[in-house]
Amino acid sequence: MAGSEALMYELNPGDGKREQVMRAVAACPVQAMVIDEWGALGRPKKSTKKAGESGIADDGSTPDRVGRIVIVGTSLTGLRAAATLRREGYQGSLTLIGDELGEPYDRPPLSKQVLSGQVVAEETMLPRRGELHADWLLGTPATGLDSAGKRVLLADGRHVGFDRLLTATGVRARPWPNPAEAALDGVFVLRGREDAAQLRRRLCDGVDRVLVIGGGFTGSEIASACRDLGVAVTVAERGPAPLVGALGEVIGAIAADVQREHGVDLRCGVTVTALEGDGDGRLRRARLSDGSTVDAAVAVVALGAERNVEWLEGSGLAAGVWGVGCDAGPAHAPCRRGSRSGSRPFMTPPWW
Ligand SMILES: Cc1cc2nc3c(=O)[nH]c(=O)nc-3n(C[C@H](O)[C@H](O)[C@H](O)COP(=O)(O)OP(=O)(O)OC[C@H]3O[C@@H](n4cnc5c(N)ncnc54)[C@H](O)[C@@H]3O)c2cc1C
Repeated sequence: MAGSEALMYELNPGDGKREQVMRAVAACPVQAMVIDEWGALGRPKKSTKKAGESGIADDGSTPDRVGRIVIVGTSLTGLRAAATLRREGYQGSLTLIGDELGEPYDRPPLSKQVLSGQVVAEETMLPRRGELHADWLLGTPATGLDSAGKRVLLADGRHVGFDRLLTATGVRARPWPNPAEAALDGVFVLRGREDAAQLRRRLCDGVDRVLVIGGGFTGSEIASACRDLGVAVTVAERGPAPLVGALGEVIGAIAADVQREHGVDLRCGVTVTALEGDGDGRLRRARLSDGSTVDAAVAVVALGAERNVEWLEGSGLAAGVWGVGCDAGPAHAPCRRGSRSGSRPFMTPPWW
């Protein structure tokens, strides 16, 4: 998207950019969450809370002021939850566990401003307002959950006890299904900051053609960035048009026209059946289900996401490939029959 509705990535927008930032907020809920501090934009901060509503308690009471809360996953959800807890007056111990190293960062700009070169990948940190007074265990994957003992088990052998736990481990990019083909030099996914930095470097190195596998949001944004950079791009999409899954066929048809007008070689109703490399293990071409081939040294696999739920295996929570079962709270539902604890110690954000 270009123009005044374009998504912006600006941590401290000046007065001159205020209107554009507000349009971007309307276009993207994640960006809206990023700049929810209206004061930074010179406008009064409105409370969205109803009387008696609290930030965390699921039974209508005020949040616990003390205790041990552990959050697993240190991306948008984990960071926002931690900030909300402190803002709502939680004064107990707070521990954030994340398998990624470094400051929590924002993903939306990775397929937009980072690929197009407006922002470097390292500068996509999520803004933090105020000290969280938390213990950060970064680069430390959680490998298990001992529900009965109320402990999170860590890959390094340690464990962290909790009174309440928020699971915010999100998703990862769905990999190309053939591991040998996925390992070819030139085959990318785009989920993390390092993925974006590497893809950006490859695009800048000079590449004849990029093949994007999947025409959803991420694939379409990558194609758009390629065209902005003057790089030839083919999009292979199984459906009748890009974005059909999210936006339906009418909008999808419009998106297809827009992509083609901008020079995207859009091939719909096809799947990529194989990725082929040369003798040095570098991607050379892709075979498509209609019998055609695409010569490309770079392919970006944009086939959606898989949920990071493996660490919950054996925990007793109803977790699987479809996500984590929650009640309306959104407290996790146990997968076993039996009475539930009234304190509902496990929570997951309702939107993932
Ligand atoms: C390229 C891209 C562009 C996007 N653009 C937009 C957009 O324009 N608009 C929009 O609304 N949304 C967009 N999204 C989606 C948005 O980024 C996600 O909705 C958001 O990141 C969800 O945040 P989350 O914290 O719930 O999960 P995630 O961002 O998935 O974070 C989960 C975190 O948990 C960590 N983790 C996983 N397993 C473990 C474990 N066992 N132990 C410890 N840590 C673990 C992960 O490494 C990760 O850091 C985009 C996403 C991508 C990838």
